[in-house]
Amino acid sequence: NFAVTLPQKSADELGELATSIETLATDLNYLKRERNEFLASISHELRTPLTYIKGYADILLKQNPPTDEREKYLAIIVTEINRLNLLIQDLFELAKIDKNSFVIKKEKIDLSIFLKRLERKLTPAINEKNMIFNVHNPSSLNLHADPIRLEQILLNLLDNAIKYSKTGGLVELKVWKEKKTIHFLIRDNGKGVPEKDIPYIFNRFYRVEKSRKRSLGGTGLGLSIVQELVHAHGAEITLKSQEQIGTEFEIIFKENEK
Ligand code: ADP
Repeated sequence: NFAVTLPQKSADELGELATSIETLATDLNYLKRERNEFLASISHELRTPLTYIKGYADILLKQNPPTDEREKYLAIIVTEINRLNLLIQDLFELAKIDKNSFVIKKEKIDLSIFLKRLERKLTPAINEKNMIFNVHNPSSLNLHADPIRLEQILLNLLDNAIKYSKTGGLVELKVWKEKKTIHFLIRDNGKGVPEKDIPYIFNRFYRVEKSRKRSLGGTGLGLSIVQELVHAHGAEITLKSQEQIGTEFEIIFKENEK
């Protein structure tokens, strides 16, 4: 009789191993599917502006339209080229993040100076839409973070707050310290995110109302980059939003460095 009776412990271990292999296989399949979907989205997103560019360039070449129409077509071509540019920049950013080949260079940031500079940078966009920008600037508060990345995170969220708000709207930026955490709140009273879209809002290429967003020129990659950069700092980002009322993003940094 060659039947092998496994000691109880190894049988349990084998069972556990089998379960982890199964989980791993499911994870790998999921990652493969996600990667394929991502590549499909990239090709689609790159192809759309190229189709416009080719279409209008062809008309310009072959039909020699009158000057006013020519100008209109050239303007569309330039817009679509800018869009491709933004898309490629964002894709490079994500590729760097995915390869873990970007480094967070943390340093002590004096938030009061930092926020003043940020406010100045946003003034033209705020003024252009006749909006109000309230910055609650804390005095003497420092944060250990990568200043370039922190600026990128906040500019992205504030740009969205402006972009998805009506003329004359209000954008707020609040920063405060709790016991061991530093909080950033970015709030607008713009169009908000529908409840059903909230769970997907940080996904790559995710946009509410796909066709409308084209005219606003986004890539749908901004928030996924923001989330990766926040996580790279060991921080968390959450979102609360209500349609037609507004949107609020909160970022929480753990302040454990001296
Ligand atoms: P996009 O380049 O389209 O702005 P993002 O990743 O930055 O892409 O944002 C994803 C989507 O989330 C946007 O298309 C928009 O529908 C929604 N969104 C982001 N920020 C806001 C906001 N402050 N108010 C309303 N909707 C927003």
